[in-house]
Amino acid sequence: MRLILFGPPGAGKGTQAEAISETFSLPHIATGDIFRNNVKNETDLGRQAKKYMDKGELVPDDVVIAMVKERISRGDAADGFLLDGFPRTVSQAEALDEALSADGTSVDAVLRLLVDDEELTARMLKRAEEQGRSDDTREVVETRLRVYRDETEPLVDRYRRQGVLHEIDGKGSIDAVRERVLETIRDLEQPA
Ligand code: AMP
Repeated sequence: MRLILFGPPGAGKGTQAEAISETFSLPHIATGDIFRNNVKNETDLGRQAKKYMDKGELVPDDVVIAMVKERISRGDAADGFLLDGFPRTVSQAEALDEALSADGTSVDAVLRLLVDDEELTARMLKRAEEQGRSDDTREVVETRLRVYRDETEPLVDRYRRQGVLHEIDGKGSIDAVRERVLETIRDLEQPA
């Protein structure tokens, strides 16, 4: 299965991705995590990415696309993967479709977590307190939400047209959301 976990920052993608990855034995490919690791290890990629991340802006498409293509070409992703935080722009989605179709595959499902703005901001500010992420301050959070609306949300229509979009209520407890997400994926495996 080639899955995309989709939704605004703070929707709970990272948390749910871990459960999905474990349950269905799929490599969890989170572009934000890859960037944060590179920042921590002070690599060239990390240095390039940091200036955008700190402002809540997107790292340029060419950088992200090259990184994801390399990652999904590795052996552990040959039979499936779970993308978290990618694609975030139309160009990224196009590049992903092209890379997969060159291999005779395609995206099987986009799992969209629906959470309202008020809850998103609250969750991100809470995460800032708990994890001390430098891009979870109020100002940067607002930029990230705006970037999501402008650049990323338009992808919803693309995936709906492709017939792969699944919308999941992302409100409520982590456990409740996890059940909904896992159920949606089980239904993909064995359509009723
Ligand atoms: P995340 O942890 O997914 O919220 O990502 C944290 C930050 O990493 C984002 O605010 C962006 O600066 C950068 N980033 C992660 N994924 C992407 C992507 N697909 N395209 C561009 N920038 C990204």
